[in-house]
Amino acid sequence: MDGNLQSNDLSGVVEADRAHVWHHLSQHAGYMAEQGRTDPKIIVEGKGLRVWDQHGREHIDAVSGGVWTVNVGYGRESIANAVRDQLVKMNFFGGTMGSIPAALFSERLISKMPGMSRVYYANSGSEANEKGFKMVRQIAHKRYGGKKHKILYRDRDYHGTTIACLSGGGQEERNAQYGPYTPGFVKVPHCLEYRAMDQGLGDLSGEAYGIAAANAIEEVILREGPDTVGALCLEPVTAGGGVITPPEGYWPRVQEICKKYDILLHIDEVVCGMGRTGTWFGYQHYGVQPDIVTMAKGVASGYAAISCCVTTEAVFDMFKDDTSDHLNYFRDISTFGGCTAGPAAAMENMRILEDENLLENTTAMGTYMLEQLEELKGKHACIGDVRGKGLFLGAELVADRETRAPLPEKLVAQVTGHCMSRDAVIIGMTNRSVPGYNNTLCFSPALIATKDDIDAIITSVDGALSAVVG
Ligand code: PMP
Repeated sequence: MDGNLQSNDLSGVVEADRAHVWHHLSQHAGYMAEQGRTDPKIIVEGKGLRVWDQHGREHIDAVSGGVWTVNVGYGRESIANAVRDQLVKMNFFGGTMGSIPAALFSERLISKMPGMSRVYYANSGSEANEKGFKMVRQIAHKRYGGKKHKILYRDRDYHGTTIACLSGGGQEERNAQYGPYTPGFVKVPHCLEYRAMDQGLGDLSGEAYGIAAANAIEEVILREGPDTVGALCLEPVTAGGGVITPPEGYWPRVQEICKKYDILLHIDEVVCGMGRTGTWFGYQHYGVQPDIVTMAKGVASGYAAISCCVTTEAVFDMFKDDTSDHLNYFRDISTFGGCTAGPAAAMENMRILEDENLLENTTAMGTYMLEQLEELKGKHACIGDVRGKGLFLGAELVADRETRAPLPEKLVAQVTGHCMSRDAVIIGMTNRSVPGYNNTLCFSPALIATKDDIDAIITSVDGALSAVVG
């Protein structure tokens, strides 16, 4: 605790927050109302998978810091110490200079990513994706007279909050009201087997659906003209758009299509990266070789802000030659990409993931949690589909199993609200993203989760579904 604040009285903090903080993704009317106003929630402390609020109430965090970030859990002193040691030695140098942690973390990271070679540092997932988009655009200018500049993105995928990322983002409700958008981004259909009927592919399933969904991307490429398409940007498992795991056959076909038309494959690992799905990166489940990989959240588990745009040597090669012409190198910078706290924290984060066998735990606990969700599905007719990989899972709620009509968002929010208010269990939902389909409960506990933690989360959801939906 800082200043004059008593650990047991945070009313001053709450009032300062109410008066001056503009929260992300929040409607503040409830905090400001004259009567019946609610207090903003302040998270004061965390340890492992648990956090404590301003009233000292303990919560189970089933979403790793709200937004799938704190992969190694809270209260890791070794990360704090690694960051501290680095900061007192050398905190920052920007621009063209390197740093010890950036060099060493790059080497370690690349050792987990066969076929990849170069790490470009930035601060947020959005920024890393922008770097990828800019690389594609510059390659188009350098090699194709600017023509091969279009970037394909998928319905329901999210790549960040900047205007270019929204322009290449498939979540309509997040995008609404921020236009006009950046030209040159083109949408391709999603790949959600449970919703194959949205695409008129309702009678296809499994591999046949996966291949058909990938072929739908090819149709867009042919419509746009392959010589105008520079890259395809996809999430390996779509996160906020509904925790969407692709069926067999999808990714190999996607790769084949990219190769056929000389299109760079940019995989957005901002959520799936760093063990979340049980492999270092989500794409590694599917045997594909990307050209560009972006990552952020779990890279340092929120102990420092860091993101990376990782490329193959072939992509990097396109930006280097010996003419010293300034138009030939990547004319991009990220001031805080020169912060050393990020890679210092990321090194220690990675050591923890390895030494504590957290990828193995993620696979084992993810399998267990999926089984528990399947059991809940047997009990509650409102669960239409459960899916996911590792400790990144979703339960899609429906009003009617036959028609698969989505459960209204308001009721889904009541389910998460019930878990929070009754059991102090924090779970997520897809919201403000896909019109009419903000109906998936999301689970992404820290990768240290135990069976007891998972049981507590499942018990809470079970109770909430009974209470809210019946
Ligand atoms: N890509 C994906 C898949 C994401 O889920 C997010 C954030 N939720 C981003 C990119 C953007 O990351 P950031 O908020 O750090 O800019």
